[in-house]
Amino acid sequence: MKLLGKVALLAACVLVIAATLIVLRLKDVPLAVLAVYGPLLVALAAGLLWPGAFGRRRVAVLLGVPAGLATLGLYFAVVFYVTDTPVLLGLGAVTALVTALVTVRRTPAGPSRSRRVFLLGGAGVALGALGVASVGWARDRRRDRLAPAARARAAALHAPGRRQRVTDGAVRVFPLHLGDTVVTFGQFHGGLDDWVGVEGYVRTLLDKTQLTVPVYAYLIDHPRHGVLMVDAGITWEQAHDHDGYYNHNAMVSRLLSQRDEYRQAPEQDLRVRLGRLGYHPDDVATVFLTHVHDDHAGGLRHLPTATVVLDRRDWDQGVRYGYSFERVEANLRFPRYDSGAYGTFPDSQDYFGDGSVILLPTPGHSPGHQCVLLRMDDGSVLFMGDTLYTLRHLAVDEVRQLTLGGADTANQLDAARRVQGLLADPTVAPLFAHETTPYRSVVDEVFATGRPDPAGFAALRRHLDGVLTPDWRLR
Ligand SMILES: [Zn+2]
Repeated sequence: MKLLGKVALLAACVLVIAATLIVLRLKDVPLAVLAVYGPLLVALAAGLLWPGAFGRRRVAVLLGVPAGLATLGLYFAVVFYVTDTPVLLGLGAVTALVTALVTVRRTPAGPSRSRRVFLLGGAGVALGALGVASVGWARDRRRDRLAPAARARAAALHAPGRRQRVTDGAVRVFPLHLGDTVVTFGQFHGGLDDWVGVEGYVRTLLDKTQLTVPVYAYLIDHPRHGVLMVDAGITWEQAHDHDGYYNHNAMVSRLLSQRDEYRQAPEQDLRVRLGRLGYHPDDVATVFLTHVHDDHAGGLRHLPTATVVLDRRDWDQGVRYGYSFERVEANLRFPRYDSGAYGTFPDSQDYFGDGSVILLPTPGHSPGHQCVLLRMDDGSVLFMGDTLYTLRHLAVDEVRQLTLGGADTANQLDAARRVQGLLADPTVAPLFAHETTPYRSVVDEVFATGRPDPAGFAALRRHLDGVLTPDWRLR
């Protein structure tokens, strides 16, 4: 019985160690390091459970100290992205000085102690000095590494080819393809296959079958309310200086995000995209944020003068991406959704009070997710955010993305049904943030001038009707 208990305990340890190794591997820790680190941890656990001839104390010292130091080193390297030379030298200096101090306290006085303290102290001071001296060098090296991508972006920013902004009293919408993101197949399509809640979360760590999906934000040129946006996509740093971007952020997103999860060509930079259409970032008066996730809020950094409208629940409960939000934190507005019912939605916010922009709460994908309905001259568009990823996801009983489980799953399904209800009106066209199906090119074509005519809206609906039945199943 006692043996069984120990075996169970060891099995639990092995599971935790395996999970740790997976996270470390996700963070690009070399396999060779993990091949030493993993067995070291397992040996430590087994050694402590069955001390045998060695004795628990000896096992703890011989295996525990290397395991502890390795854990500390990996923790700093991975969680804090501390792989910079100055910080590593600093850590070395602190270790040497602390060891010198311990030696003073633990070892009896004598020439041998003096020699050891002198050597350790000297090494600590030397490493510290080197660390300070290497700060400038590390900064230059980082700049050199980012230089080619930075040069390409600067060239795109100053390239000719600016379109003239048209102001003729019409509402215009321009889809902005601001880059791509790598997601697991299950995150996108696994909702009916148990990619739900904690299980879905574990699966995203284990099953790395990936697909690349676009990241879209939308620019709206409104004759009465100025230049608006729905979401802000990603920013250059997320694609090219991932660690630098997430360094400003909460632990969890640092641990679990993948370094190459975003891609952005120079001409996909938000400022370049706006410039080509004849706009300047400072023209953007209001950004309606569907939710705070990093692939929707990233580009806010480039819109410091805009008012940012998002659901307070997302701001209070979500991860705040400091690098993106720091310039707009004073400009946040939280809708109260007190304009009464709208279509299938019990609550809504008529943002400008004239029926032109309606904010609709659709919690589920995040605590305070919202969809945005915009009235145009010949129809309306419904910006979906991440409530449903693509047109096919409207068949929510047949194609479903990962949901968060429990009440969140129920809320998201509820939101999806309400969205289906709004789309029963054939003059309402859905616009997605991560559209991968052929609907994407229909949208790009119909919105090429920003102003779809009735034939354009009809083309969008024709495509929708070709993919989905009236009761929202795939044809
Ligand atoms: Zn998204």
